Formats: sequence, C-alpha cells, structure tokens
Amino acid sequence: MPNFEMPIDKRAEMSIIDTKTVCTAYKKGDHVLELRNVKKSFSDGRMRIDAVKGVDLCFPERGLFFLVGKSGSGKSTLLNLLGGLEKPTSGEVVYEGRSLSSMSSRELDEYRARTVSFVFQEKNVFPALTVAENITFSDASAHPQKIAEELGIGGLLERKVNELSGGQLQRVAIARALVRGCRVLLADEPTGNLDRETSRELLQSTKSSAIMGSVRGSWA
Ligand code: ADP
Ligand code: MG
Repeated sequence: MPNFEMPIDKRAEMSIIDTKTVCTAYKKGDHVLELRNVKKSFSDGRMRIDAVKGVDLCFPERGLFFLVGKSGSGKSTLLNLLGGLEKPTSGEVVYEGRSLSSMSSRELDEYRARTVSFVFQEKNVFPALTVAENITFSDASAHPQKIAEELGIGGLLERKVNELSGGQLQRVAIARALVRGCRVLLADEPTGNLDRETSRELLQSTKSSAIMGSVRGSWA
C-alpha cells in the first residue's frame, strides 16, 4: 500500500503517491518545481478536452513521485507541462521561483536540455546503435559502464538494441536519461521497470535528485 496518496486533480482522476517527501512538499519555500493552478485543454475545433483541470503541486529538492491515474486522466500531459514541452492553457509551471512562461526561448531550451530529462512511453532508443552508444548519445564523454551495471544491463553494452527485450530497452532509455545528470527525471509509464524499489535505488545512485514517474491505474 502507498504511504501517502493525494488527489491532485480537481476531479480526482489522478493521484500522486510517493514516500514521505510529499508531506514536506507542501511546506512553502523548500520546493524546486511547482505547479500553480495548472490547466491544459486541447481543442480539435469542435470539442474541447480538459486534460488537466487545475493542479497545485510542489516538488521538493529530492524525492520520488508517482503520478497514478487511468488512461486518459492527463498523466502524460502533466509530465509534458513539467518538462516544458507543453504550455499550460492557464496557471504556471514554476522552476526555482521562475515561471517557465517568463523564460526566454533560450532559457527554456536550457531548462529542457539541462534540468529535466525524459524517458518516454515509447522507448526512444536508436535501434541501429549499441547499448553503450545509446546511453552516451547525448553526452559522448559519459561513461556508460557504472550506470548500466546499476540498472542490470552492464553485460549488454556492446549489443545492438534491436536484440534486446522490452524491459532491457526501457533500462537503456533510463540509463541515457540518467547519465546526463539532469536534476529531474520524468518517466512516462516505464511499466515494471521503474517500480518503487528500482526508482529508489536509482535515486540513490544517480545525480538526478528527483524522479517523477507516471503509472497507469488507480489505487482503491
Ligand atoms: P494519460 O497519459 O493519463 O493517459 P494524456 O495526458 O495522454 O492521459 O491525455 C489526457 C486527455 O487529453 C485525453 O483525453 C487525450 O485524448 C487528450 N490529449 C492529450 N494530448 C492531446 C493532444 N495533443 N491533442 C488533443 N487531445 C490530447
Ligand atoms: Mg500517458
């Protein structure tokens, strides 16, 4: 059972679950990343879809957070907003006291390149490259061995990724995100491979200080 559960959506379709840190997340002043009444709607011209319906959240310096909700409840949209890949329809995404909407496009690029790191639902690996080449893709000076070993793929470094299983591919994608040493790792449904224990281990062994993952489902 989760230690803590909090509905974050005004219609309570999504919850956030983590270890003890979320309790401190609600203390003012010690958080790094914040959502202030964030709403996101999409429109296809005829219909409006309210994907995120007003979320207030603060994330502290370190922590492990799980966004839990049914398919279509807005988990991916929320991660995209946190990562600066989407702009909120209203409300603010605030990093270290600054709203992403007040940043210049250069600062926003910097935020997306250096602060946050994504592991997407589609395991975005390069099939023709080896595991080692995939891990060091965005940082050629990185040493893939240590992180690969920590993720249990240390013996696969010279293999082409198209020979790997789904779970191993997820680990390659996670290793590539982690080796860059970004502060925040956003992982969208890396099912099974980023369970709470694994995530906690990752958190201890990497330079990323916060991991936010999304998981499909609901907690009764
Ligand atoms: P989840 O990740 O929890 O499954 P999403 O964030 O992907 O949910 O989607 C939330 C809702 O927003 C869904 O109804 C989805 O169809 C809609 N949606 C997401 N992205 C777009 C988009 N780019 N254009 C239109 N609708 C979208
Ligand atoms: Mg999703």
